[in-house]
Amino acid sequence: MIVVCSGPYGLEEAMKTLKNGGSAIDAVEAGCRAVESDLRDTGVGLGGAPNILGVVELDAQIMDGKTLNAGMVGCVSGYEHPISIARCVMEKLLHVFLVGKGAERFASEMGFEKTELLTDSMREIWLKRLCEEIGVADPAALEAHPELWRMSKWATDPYKMGTVNYLVQDANGDICSGVSTSGWGWKYPGRLGDSPVLGAGGYADNRYGAAACTGAGEMAIRVGSARSVVVYMKMGLGIEQAVREALRDLNDLHDQRIGGVNVLALDKDGNHLVGNSGDSPPSHWYMTPDMTEPAQKVGICEPYKKG
Ligand code: ASP
Repeated sequence: MIVVCSGPYGLEEAMKTLKNGGSAIDAVEAGCRAVESDLRDTGVGLGGAPNILGVVELDAQIMDGKTLNAGMVGCVSGYEHPISIARCVMEKLLHVFLVGKGAERFASEMGFEKTELLTDSMREIWLKRLCEEIGVADPAALEAHPELWRMSKWATDPYKMGTVNYLVQDANGDICSGVSTSGWGWKYPGRLGDSPVLGAGGYADNRYGAAACTGAGEMAIRVGSARSVVVYMKMGLGIEQAVREALRDLNDLHDQRIGGVNVLALDKDGNHLVGNSGDSPPSHWYMTPDMTEPAQKVGICEPYKKG
C-alpha cells in the first residue's frame, strides 16, 4: 500500500482510508477532498484562484487503473469537491467527461451542497493583480469587455498555478490516479488545463502504473504527458527513464512554452518519482502504512535546451 502526492496535504487522510480497508479510489478521493477543503492550498478547491472575472472554476479527474474507467469534470463553479463529482461521473454515468453548467447540474442531482469558493483573501489578491499590476480601472466592467482575451493573457502570464495529484496503490495492488485544481489563476473563462483531461493531467493502469502532472497544463495536453509515462513503462522502460522521456517530449515543444511541468509517477511495484521539464528538481510526498507522517522525496529534472 502506498500513497503518493504532489504536495504535503491530505496524505494522512488517504492512508487512514487505506488502513480502514478502503480502495485506492476511496483513498484518492479522501486525499483530494482534504486538499480541496484546505485553505492553505490556494490552487485547489475552496479558496482556489479565480478566472479573470473573479469566478473560481474547478477541474478534476479520477481514473481506476483496474477497469480503466474514469470520470472528469471541468469548469465547475460553486462546488467544493470536484474530485467527488468526477467519481460520480465515473460510477453513475455512461459518459466520462462533464463541463460547466451540465457538470453543476449533475453535482446538484448527486446531492452536493453549493458553496461560495472565492474567499475574501483570494478576492483581494485577484483585485490587486487586476487593478495594481494590470491597470484595470473597473473590474466589474470586465464582464462586458470586448477584448477580455487580451486582459486575461496579460493577467495570467506568468501567473499563479497550483494543483494536487494523488497516485495510490491499495492492498489488492489496484492503482488509482486523481487530480484536482482551480487551474491557472486569472485564466480566460472556460479554459481547461491538463488536470481534467485524461491522459494529459493523469492516467492509471494497474498493469504498469500511473502518472499525473502539475504545472503548465497547456503543454502537458499537447504531448499527453501522463499517459505517455504509462505507455513508456508498458514498452519496458523503468520509472525514471519513462519520466525522463515524458519530460523530453515536453522539452521538444519549442513554441508557446509557458512554464515547466512536473510529472509524478508510480509504477506497479510501488516505486515513485517526480520530474520537472526545467532546471530545478521538484519534490513530492509519500506515505506507506508503517509511516506516521508523510515524507518528502526530491526528484529529477531534464533542463530545456532550445532546439
Ligand atoms: N496544471 C494546472 C493547469 O494547467 C495548473 C497547475 O498545476 O498548477 O490548470
